[in-house]
Amino acid sequence: MRKNIVAGNWKMNKTLQEGLALATELNKALAGSTPNCDVVIGTPAIHLASVAAAIDTTKIGVAAQNCANKESGAYTGEISAAMVKSTGANYVILGHSERREYYGETSAILNDKVALALANGLTPIYCCGEALEVRNANGQNAYVKNQLEETIFNLSADDFKKIVIAYEPIWAIGTGVTASTEQAQDMLAFIRTIIAEKYGKEIAENTSILYGGSCNAKNAGELFAQPDIDGGLIGGASLKVEDFKAIIDAF
Ligand code: 13P
Repeated sequence: MRKNIVAGNWKMNKTLQEGLALATELNKALAGSTPNCDVVIGTPAIHLASVAAAIDTTKIGVAAQNCANKESGAYTGEISAAMVKSTGANYVILGHSERREYYGETSAILNDKVALALANGLTPIYCCGEALEVRNANGQNAYVKNQLEETIFNLSADDFKKIVIAYEPIWAIGTGVTASTEQAQDMLAFIRTIIAEKYGKEIAENTSILYGGSCNAKNAGELFAQPDIDGGLIGGASLKVEDFKAIIDAF
């Protein structure tokens, strides 16, 4: 059975002190109950170890937002998958559109990152999604299919099973414009169909596919009720415990 997941992506927000306060407040808010989904927080890399030490990681998973495409060595400023893992984090967000757009992450680079993440026991939350021009030309399915074919569809079935996918249409990220429930469901169903074509129905049915892009406490319930939407990757609304908890409670 695939898992429902609500994952926060803090992006480049929160100092260490602010991040620790947010994480411990969330930890407290979840202490008395068991959510109907896995909960993950994607903190800045420099906060990972402190956050992992401050919370109950059996209840809240910790994610990096990126890792290096090299194993180790003379790559000044980079953070390897092994280093991420050594902090207590268990996930890594890879291929976010902001990384692709602002830091030139290509499919070739992402293939190396995914391989290193898997080799180090991290679960990649692999992002895909089209820009507005592509959507306006009705090219979103072909675009996302190509993004997946160039990257995670190169994995063996055993490795592919370890991946979580997040569909985040670029036009919905941080804009307040959410994809309609129908647009999100249609795309996630399409992704599940192409996974089934590539890896078979069983693997497709067991892959968690998340929606991301202006997901909030108001729209989460309707989105998560869709048959192919297994949760959300949450940016802005993960920065306040009240909002993030309400999204978790939407399951
Ligand atoms: P927002 O929820 O702020 O639109 O961000 C979505 C996102 O990019 C999560 O990775």
